[in-house]
Amino acid sequence: MIDKIEIYGIQIELNEPFVISKGALSHARNTVVKIYDHQGIYGIGECCPFRSIHGETQAGTIAFAKDLAEALIGKNPEEIHNLVHLMNKMIVGNASIKSAVDMALYDLNAKNAGKPLYAFLGGSKDKKIVTDNTVSLLSEDKMVAKAEKFVDQGFKILKIKIGDRPGTNDVSRIKAIRKAVGEHITLRVDANQGWSYVDAKKALFGMVDYNIEHCEEPVHANNIIDQARLVAISPIPLMADEAVFNHVDALRVIRNKAADLINIKLGKSGGIYNAMKIAAIAEAADMNCQLGCFSESRLGISAMAHFDLAWNNILYHDLDSPLMLSEDPVVGGITYNADWSINITETPGHGADFDPAFLARFPKIEIK
Ligand SMILES: [Mg+2]
Repeated sequence: MIDKIEIYGIQIELNEPFVISKGALSHARNTVVKIYDHQGIYGIGECCPFRSIHGETQAGTIAFAKDLAEALIGKNPEEIHNLVHLMNKMIVGNASIKSAVDMALYDLNAKNAGKPLYAFLGGSKDKKIVTDNTVSLLSEDKMVAKAEKFVDQGFKILKIKIGDRPGTNDVSRIKAIRKAVGEHITLRVDANQGWSYVDAKKALFGMVDYNIEHCEEPVHANNIIDQARLVAISPIPLMADEAVFNHVDALRVIRNKAADLINIKLGKSGGIYNAMKIAAIAEAADMNCQLGCFSESRLGISAMAHFDLAWNNILYHDLDSPLMLSEDPVVGGITYNADWSINITETPGHGADFDPAFLARFPKIEIK
């Protein structure tokens, strides 16, 4: 039985503002959910509501978390199917806060099963997860300098934020970055819905000589007609990110041939339960996926890395947000190796927790 739920709104300053075509972020303002069972065992989850993508804010996620918590008290935490449906019945959308609750439930159940979360989800450690690092959308010279710094730090994969108008500026950025980092570095790009169809066409054909692995979200997330038109002609594989929040979106995009790849994020799908459905629908369509993040700490990223190990069609890993935070308030959980592969512990659950002294800095909301 779920006995008690604690909710915290936390704040961590970023090393420097994170800039995408949708705007800049200076702090990660994340929401933490701790779900205790009647034995006093708890699972812990984290979400990062990104207002320009989710339409959710920290204040909103905390308010909804209280409502959800009241409904979950007394329920069996093992019945995740029922609990996810209960949350969806109570509140439409709000994938971010639902993902924190879902993450806490999976952590709790895996802990009680005595298994690391990846094993609880049926995964294995056969797969090596190597993260990229992300270059913000800035002036060309600043982006080149950042890309060079990341390569010096040992990153072999860079994700470049573009989506500026006109798209020709983006081609110039990518040309300069490719020249600076050489041919052996993998470059992937993300336009974050910044282009029109015409911009996207120019930019995608303009970047064809610079060996781009894939491009995320070229046009507006709702513009499925132009997404499909671009997939039909693009020389670079196109990945749906903002266009696919959940499994329903995944099915629509696949039916409409509106993407070559899907970027799964627990913060979009509403957590692990629905993310598994996206991965399964993609698998059925012979489609590969990326696992991405918002600005979660190492706690949220730990849960994501465990999830990543459970799906063979997740080939791309964009799990770099802890590297952008000015402090690491997390105990246990994943660590990054020198080659930026991710080391996953055998601790039951996702293995991560917040340092109690860190959580004590923020008001605690308790629902019993
Ligand atoms: Mg993206």
